[in-house]
Amino acid sequence: MSVPASLVAAARAAVPDAGVDQPLGALTTYRVGGRADVLARVESVDQLVALARALAGPGRPGSPPAPVPVLVLGRGSNVLVADRGFPGVAVVLGDGLAGVELAGTTVTAGGAASLPVVARLSAAAGLTGFEWAVGVPGSVGGAVRMNAGGHGSDMAATLRRVRVVDLRSGEDGWMAAADLELGYRRSRLGPHQVVVAAELELRRGERERAKAEIAEIVRWRREHQPGGANAGSVFTNPPGDSAGRLLDAAGAKGRRHGTAAVSTKHANFIQADEGGSADDVAALMAELRELVRAHAGVDLHAETHLVGFTAEQAEAAGARLLTGLEGAAAATAAADPRPEVEG
Ligand SMILES: Cc1cc2nc3c(=O)[nH]c(=O)nc-3n(C[C@H](O)[C@H](O)[C@H](O)COP(=O)(O)OP(=O)(O)OC[C@H]3O[C@@H](n4cnc5c(N)ncnc54)[C@H](O)[C@@H]3O)c2cc1C
Repeated sequence: MSVPASLVAAARAAVPDAGVDQPLGALTTYRVGGRADVLARVESVDQLVALARALAGPGRPGSPPAPVPVLVLGRGSNVLVADRGFPGVAVVLGDGLAGVELAGTTVTAGGAASLPVVARLSAAAGLTGFEWAVGVPGSVGGAVRMNAGGHGSDMAATLRRVRVVDLRSGEDGWMAAADLELGYRRSRLGPHQVVVAAELELRRGERERAKAEIAEIVRWRREHQPGGANAGSVFTNPPGDSAGRLLDAAGAKGRRHGTAAVSTKHANFIQADEGGSADDVAALMAELRELVRAHAGVDLHAETHLVGFTAEQAEAAGARLLTGLEGAAAATAAADPRPEVEG
């Protein structure tokens, strides 16, 4: 346990249910990986701001010498947590932040709202432009951070602004989508910036047409994507090519490392065995990169974010390591807020 007791107490003052040594990997769609030193489920913006102030530390009597690593987890559909777990404070947004409001063509959704729910509610209200999201099993907050997309669209296409709480300062404010530097599966949001709400601007459409499109996307996904414990596409597509095609051509389908295997249906999906190991998934990711490098001379980059792994493991897997606020690294980030490069 590397989170100081004083900080656990401060976190509990803000979020009474915050638990120590809680399962974290189990909250991801891979369903493998270890525990978080502290897990706090927040139900309101006020509670999140109070937690942020508690975590900010400096200036608080008995505050720890350095900020602890923090992590916000959405629906865990693009995160792999190491078997050794996460030595910090993990924040999950609860149902209190999952509301969806429709007013005219504007949809305001909480950071914890499920993308498929937002897609279906919008279509049922005769709004078009968000049907694609029915196939992405993430939260609105995670989708903004990743600029999730599919079927020819992405979050950037309709996102107008987001409400962000900064876990470093407790600041709470709206940011324009244009300031998020949304790109292919990336944004400039850092691990300390929690999206608590997003405003989408959709268009008036025909309800039946939107619902038919949703049904077609669901059918297509069932036909083309495997089930089981996975995090969707493991690697992003390199410019002008498809990671799935490259992996398939290199003979990746069915390849196994311990308890992790490449789907035989889709070469860019890894499935974890029940009770399996996250470190096996990461090792398989590294092997797949080597395979494609040797076969096609292309360097693949992971879409999946890694938590609690070593820098070497993340580099080998071609993945972004979410370390959150960590001592000197956090201080550097505060002084030099460079955009993050995802994947
Ligand atoms: C079967 C399957 C199919 C998929 N298909 C697609 C697809 O077609 N297109 C696509 O883009 N993705 C796809 N994904 C990946 C994933 O669903 C998306 O990236 C999704 O947007 C992640 O949301 P999440 O809530 O699960 O985020 P998490 O996986 O929990 O987190 C992802 C990142 O977002 C951060 N984050 C989470 N919540 C917040 C928040 N509230 N504020 C700020 N940052 C936050 C996390 O710290 C992490 O860095 C698929 C996954 C699966 C399992």
